Amino acid sequence: MATLDSLKHALRRKAKALALVPKQPLSDTQYSAGFEILVQGSGWTTYQDFIIPQLSQLLVLLLNSRTQISALEIGPGPKSVLGFLPYNLRRRVSGYTAFEPNNLYAADLKEWLCSTSEAGLPLPCLKNAPAIHQIPFIPQDDKDNDTRTGAGVNDEKYDIILFCHSMYGMEPKRRFIEGALQLFVEPQGGLVVVFYRDGVLRLDGLVCHRTASFPTSVVRVANDDEVLNHFAPFIAGFITQGVDRDEAIRASWRQVCRTLGRREEAHPDHLSFSSPVVMAAFTQNATTLPELTCQVSLVNKTVKNWEARLHRPASIMRPTEDRHVQQCVQWALKHGASLTVIGGGHSGHCLWPNVVAVDMSAFDQVHILREGRDSFDSGPLVVAGAGCTTGDIVHKTMAAGVTVPLGARPSVGAGLWLQGGIGHLARLHGLACDAIIGAVVVSVDSGQVLCVGCVPSQHQPASAVRPENEMDLLCALKGAGTNFGIVTSVTFRAYTAQIYNIRTWIVPLSSNLDARLRLGEFDRFARALSKNCSADAYLYWDAGLLHLGVAMFESSTTGLTFATAVPTPGNSTWGVEVDIKTVDGVGLFETEMYVSRMHGGHGSGKTSSFKRCLFLKCIGEANIAARLVAAVETRPSPLCYLHLLQGGGAVGDVAADATAFGCRDWDFACVITGVWPRDRDGTEAARSAVRWVYGVASDLLPWSEGAYGADLGPDPRDAPLAAKAFGRNGPHLARLKHRLDPHHILAYACPIPKASMEQKLIILVTGESGAGKDYCAEVWVSVFANCAHRSLTARAVSISDTTKREYAAATGADLDRLLWDRAYKEQHRPALTTFYQEQARQRPRLPEEHFLDVVYGAADVDVLLITGMRDEAPVAVLSHLVPDRRLLDVHVQASEQTRRARRRCHGDSKDSKGSNHCGSDPSILDYYCSTLTFDNHATGNEAAESFAKRYLLPFVHNDLERLANMVRAVPDFPRPGIEFRHLLGISQQPGGLALCASLLQTHFTGDWAKVGAVVCCEAGGFVYASALALRVDIPLVLIREAGKLPPPTVSVGKASSHISYNSKEKRIEMEQDVVPRGALVVVVDDVLSSGKTLCAMLQLLDKAGIRADDVSVMVVAEFPVHRGRQLLRQHGFGRVKIHSLLIFGGA
Ligand SMILES: Cc1cc2nc3c(=O)[nH]c(=O)nc-3n(C[C@H](O)[C@H](O)[C@H](O)COP(=O)(O)OP(=O)(O)OC[C@H]3O[C@@H](n4cnc5c(N)ncnc54)[C@H](O)[C@@H]3O)c2cc1C
Repeated sequence: MATLDSLKHALRRKAKALALVPKQPLSDTQYSAGFEILVQGSGWTTYQDFIIPQLSQLLVLLLNSRTQISALEIGPGPKSVLGFLPYNLRRRVSGYTAFEPNNLYAADLKEWLCSTSEAGLPLPCLKNAPAIHQIPFIPQDDKDNDTRTGAGVNDEKYDIILFCHSMYGMEPKRRFIEGALQLFVEPQGGLVVVFYRDGVLRLDGLVCHRTASFPTSVVRVANDDEVLNHFAPFIAGFITQGVDRDEAIRASWRQVCRTLGRREEAHPDHLSFSSPVVMAAFTQNATTLPELTCQVSLVNKTVKNWEARLHRPASIMRPTEDRHVQQCVQWALKHGASLTVIGGGHSGHCLWPNVVAVDMSAFDQVHILREGRDSFDSGPLVVAGAGCTTGDIVHKTMAAGVTVPLGARPSVGAGLWLQGGIGHLARLHGLACDAIIGAVVVSVDSGQVLCVGCVPSQHQPASAVRPENEMDLLCALKGAGTNFGIVTSVTFRAYTAQIYNIRTWIVPLSSNLDARLRLGEFDRFARALSKNCSADAYLYWDAGLLHLGVAMFESSTTGLTFATAVPTPGNSTWGVEVDIKTVDGVGLFETEMYVSRMHGGHGSGKTSSFKRCLFLKCIGEANIAARLVAAVETRPSPLCYLHLLQGGGAVGDVAADATAFGCRDWDFACVITGVWPRDRDGTEAARSAVRWVYGVASDLLPWSEGAYGADLGPDPRDAPLAAKAFGRNGPHLARLKHRLDPHHILAYACPIPKASMEQKLIILVTGESGAGKDYCAEVWVSVFANCAHRSLTARAVSISDTTKREYAAATGADLDRLLWDRAYKEQHRPALTTFYQEQARQRPRLPEEHFLDVVYGAADVDVLLITGMRDEAPVAVLSHLVPDRRLLDVHVQASEQTRRARRRCHGDSKDSKGSNHCGSDPSILDYYCSTLTFDNHATGNEAAESFAKRYLLPFVHNDLERLANMVRAVPDFPRPGIEFRHLLGISQQPGGLALCASLLQTHFTGDWAKVGAVVCCEAGGFVYASALALRVDIPLVLIREAGKLPPPTVSVGKASSHISYNSKEKRIEMEQDVVPRGALVVVVDDVLSSGKTLCAMLQLLDKAGIRADDVSVMVVAEFPVHRGRQLLRQHGFGRVKIHSLLIFGGA
């Protein structure tokens, strides 16, 4: 599929060839017609999947430091891009200006921004009418010379400036961006964002803050003369003068469109063009590169990878010592920029557009240490600089009689051993990363030089320090090592050098069936090999026929074991070898079949390739073999092939969590290799090979044991592969990434999937009108968003907005004023309440419906804060609807005087008693106690922030997830349909009991000094309550089955639990007077599900004279689906505070 950029060049070439001049710019009408086709043709997907999410992420960052923003859009067309953002972001735009030189669009834009549709105004909270200038945007410096700019037109200041569509007609682009950078409200904060679909964004050294691409965007244009007549001039950027000439060129241009446009089966009447979209965001630091270039030298470098060569970095720095690497990092930290690192330059993401690259090639020393001076280096060690290539290390070590297990190509660099490293010694000695025992790394958090693991003392830089989490970092460097710092050297354990005997077979395949059977044979052959042997297979097409190529590598330290004359099982399967060779480690590089044999040996050396690699087991099994054969059959060019490299042996001997390389259990690494002639880089040939690689990868992914992270980068098509790249280590690595690279300096390395929060949190913020619920909710959102130990998304939503919308639609009230004008809202409050009550009468499940709408509308966030609740006991009533999330409520309270003052300050002079619990009897609150209460008397954020840090952040602490991971799920136990959570199993895990007791202690929101007893019931409660009682040094009071405790006792009946076989009622009892009168009591149990046990315990305490007000309950785990809280409330225990450490969704 041709790109729009190549179409543009082809159209311009055609016009030039026809010598059709003079050209003239498009009129507004011609431009609009073309633009309309483009926007309609690229469909909503580009907005939905790329532009809106990217812009939203940037705005959330911006809104961390301000409550409202003013925006400038440059060339928005007929609709503002900002107007498509989620409501909670749109409503924060308080000022809007646009430069839209197209008169038609300017009028449409004005109308669109001011028209109230069903969904309300696109930008509902503008303080003034939008300012739409019907002139082009002119950078500040050029303004004086330009007569079109009226005085004061762009003297305004903005928080965000958007170049909406490709910077059409703006040259040189750098000057326009620099011009925009001068328009920030706060010189130290603001964003210029460019969305670009016009090929490479050339900005001559301007540094971007963040960039992202959407390579799969496609524009579909109706294959119709009329449509193409409008579309082609728009893409070419001009028309020609004169009717005859115009007709001639249009006919030729239609022809060009039809030749280059792809006809897809699903869209037979359309021509499709690939139209990758790029986003680049700039801050005021975009021009700070000279600060770095005066410290570290620049280099003009061509990297190996064709894809990386297409990216235009801001510059490439070439540090020659650790200090220079530190300077690069410190510069990036100071200016909020990211960096890429160049090792061997073989990946597509060592260079990234408008990002500074750090070329490590000067760190090219290899040191071999036979006998070390340190305690750990008994064996031979190799210290390799991060700029060494595989060839450098193999050459130098071989001369010393040792080796390191590396990969198959000499020019590949540090990216290989930091991310895995699969080679012919992997079955014998493991992956390259397994041989790493130490490293020197420049921290991308502090800029310090860190020494990690075993680094011989003479190779430890004088300034290096040992980090706190040293072993964690070493483990992470072994498999995900491109993500946590810039590595300057690694220390490898070395092995005795090997000699290799290689036997090669080439088997022509007569049919698809033959191919599958032969793969089965190969699988069996490989399985029988000993650890010092490995077998590779190639499935490829040559001379019009499918072939299986097999290479068997046998290694030996002496070469004496090779008996080349003796037949192997390979001979009986595939006949005589086409080649047998004995080589050393260097000679081995030339024996790869794709280098030496296939397609004339690497397509005669003039090819480019694109690879993705998956790990497979049992390649001979029918469904996998069929997929492999089908993949090669659908190759877009005869040069594409599959390469299967054998694993097992020492690769699988390493535990999955011993290194970051978490995929250990596989037989073959399947490298899906798209190849095309080098002179066709950047053409449809290259694009179709890339598409084929991703297509095959996604077909094989569900059958794979994981994906190889080494080739993966920020391309969104890599995300599903990256999700399987680190096995079970993903969540741990994600947390480490957040800790060690908190500023996203290494933003373009292999993506570590974001750890999704297992125990998602919903906080219901309740309280009376004027208490400050919305204000607090916003403050708490920012506390979660800035949480230091994990990256969280948080959002505040008002549940009553739905009612307001329905009310406005039914009564004609002004929705925007209802949402944002407090006085207007207060004026409508009684009518709104009546409206809601009437609706609730007709639809009794309305509160639940509204609640679920809000929750599912924010399914992407980790922490959701909901304001505007009307329910009386929201957690008790609603938690079963979201059984896999933790639901808690915070009651915000303030004195009547404070509330009245706040309401007045917002324009309400009436003494409104109406709360969000409107319609309910306020006395009902007496029967319910919220999880937490916040006294919101003070002005400012401080009190709300410290409340959130003390009481809310503990709910997202990693320790809760550690605890959750200790709970084994047992399906169909004790009877079918029940997924049993083995909570008592926590105590059987190392550190489990201590962790649980410490969490029970810290999650208690009361004062332990006032607690007189910890009360528990057998059996689960005994375990955790004892550990807690010991920790807080408070007497433990036991509740047992009747008859087990000495008199005098009190007792009550207790119904059986929902999972118990025994349905008979039992009695439980406790000794009389063991709890001091008037003391506070903490009841501890392992589980809250149906609530029957807890209910009986509370009844027993009541009978023993302990008031419900004096009781708090703490449970290790709650199963909200059984509605235990509701049962307790129905039995009069609604005022008992209940805290659960864990929430489980199952039965
Ligand atoms: C022709 C070819 C053959 C290959 N053969 C094998 C093979 O036999 N076995 C195998 O396992 N893989 C193989 N690969 C895959 C290879 O391991 C990856 O492509 C690897 O990422 C390349 O590393 P590099 O240093 O050459 O590339 P680069 O593009 O320079 O680096 C790759 C990644 O590592 C990061 N990085 C590099 N140096 C550092 C550093 N010092 N600190 C932090 N980050 C750094 C870069 O930023 C980038 O994200 C091969 C790839 C190619 C193209």
